[in-house]
Amino acid sequence: MFTTHPFDDDKLREECGVFGIWGAETAAAVAALGLHALQHRGQEAAGITTFDGTGFHSHRALGHVAGNFDKDSVIRALAGRAGIGHVRYSTTGETALRNVQPLYADFEFGGLAVAHNGNLTNAYALRRALVRRGCLFQSTTDSEVFIHLIAISLYSTVVDRLIDALKQVQGAYSLVALHDGALIGARDPMGVRPLVLGRLANGGWVLASETCALDIVGAEFVRDIEAGEIVVIDAGGVRSVKPFGRGQSRFCIFEYIYFARPDSIVEGTPVYETRKRIGAELARESGVPADVVVPVPDSGVPAAMGYAAEAGIPFELGIIRNHYVGRTFIEPTDQIRHLGVKLKHSANRAMLEGKRVVLVDDSIVRGTTSKKIVEMVRQAGAREVHMRISSPPTTHSCYYGIDTPERSKLMAAKHDVAEMGRIIGVDSLAFISLDGLYRALGKPGRDAARPEYCDACFTGDYAIRLADLEDNTEKQLSLLQPAAGQ
Ligand code: SF4
Repeated sequence: MFTTHPFDDDKLREECGVFGIWGAETAAAVAALGLHALQHRGQEAAGITTFDGTGFHSHRALGHVAGNFDKDSVIRALAGRAGIGHVRYSTTGETALRNVQPLYADFEFGGLAVAHNGNLTNAYALRRALVRRGCLFQSTTDSEVFIHLIAISLYSTVVDRLIDALKQVQGAYSLVALHDGALIGARDPMGVRPLVLGRLANGGWVLASETCALDIVGAEFVRDIEAGEIVVIDAGGVRSVKPFGRGQSRFCIFEYIYFARPDSIVEGTPVYETRKRIGAELARESGVPADVVVPVPDSGVPAAMGYAAEAGIPFELGIIRNHYVGRTFIEPTDQIRHLGVKLKHSANRAMLEGKRVVLVDDSIVRGTTSKKIVEMVRQAGAREVHMRISSPPTTHSCYYGIDTPERSKLMAAKHDVAEMGRIIGVDSLAFISLDGLYRALGKPGRDAARPEYCDACFTGDYAIRLADLEDNTEKQLSLLQPAAGQ
């Protein structure tokens, strides 16, 4: 049995990645490759459902994509030229397997498989209403809410039923769905979670959370699916439906800071370049005399490069990351636990000893890992340690599909920056400002009346209503919080 990750690196975690394929010789093999490229968006479970013209085939399991889809027999059993896939992060446990997506249901109009990335903010209310109507839930995922809403819809076509369902849900989601006649993709009306469209050389189509999944399968990037857009892909090509009209989009700004892979292009902006620009902005805002700029690997690397270039201070790998520490320790001993951060990160003493170090990381969540890394850098002989963070302080929880601790556990919700610096043990601590972050994204600053991005975890400005939380009858549902009765 898997346990909670023993070497929790104290990061927010993306909860899911989705992939869809239409018109490929072996859809399952292409989907497995695509999911492999999206593995950073969810490491606990993976699933693929395909359609072969007459029936659906599905394989879902806990664990990594590579471990679950590396056998010829598994791929061959997933016959068909169309498919959808999903990677998921979850707290795991016995209840996890039934939550692994895609979910599948038989309807009067045929089969339908659904997988999504994100979180519905009125999921509890909808589930209660659906249960009262006799719906029997098998899982705690929001995908099943979509399935039940589609099942009870009075519209006749799948797309009309999906629109009917989407009009009842609130939240942040990107979903892919597969039925007998089409591959469907949809983004929530504010486009908080990403979804892109790509084209294969043979004319087939791909939907994916990030462009890195297009690259690996040799698909050309066509465009981002727009906020509130539904695309229907079938033998006739791609049809776009926009049932929500034109609203303001609020893409997740944290995708640029940490979640998306650095080689992805999200919403038209290369992630790697953006991270370097954030680092440069950070150097302009809170530069400090130093001998060396050191990233906390891997996610702090591009921002540290940008910082170093802007500040004219050498960039050095003063911390080395061990990439092979992970879920191999299923039942860690106390001794292994005690090693903690050292199993994952080692100080490169030659680059630190006697130096004034600027340590660049992407975020501070609980602060536990930051404290240990600073200790390690000091033990390696650093003379001064100045920490620079390429996000503003994370003061609020995310309810839009990112695993965040509850607010009381967020260090920045409890302490001001000076206190945080003292607790972590640095000589100075600075975060990029909200305006600086927007500037790095090519905006003049944050327009408080009309912000271009979701930045609720830094501001508390939740653009999508947190209906379950406001109703106060249940906790706001996160994908990671088991529903009542679990
Ligand atoms: S609250 Fe933060 S992590 Fe969540 S969607 Fe908004 S910006 Fe992204």
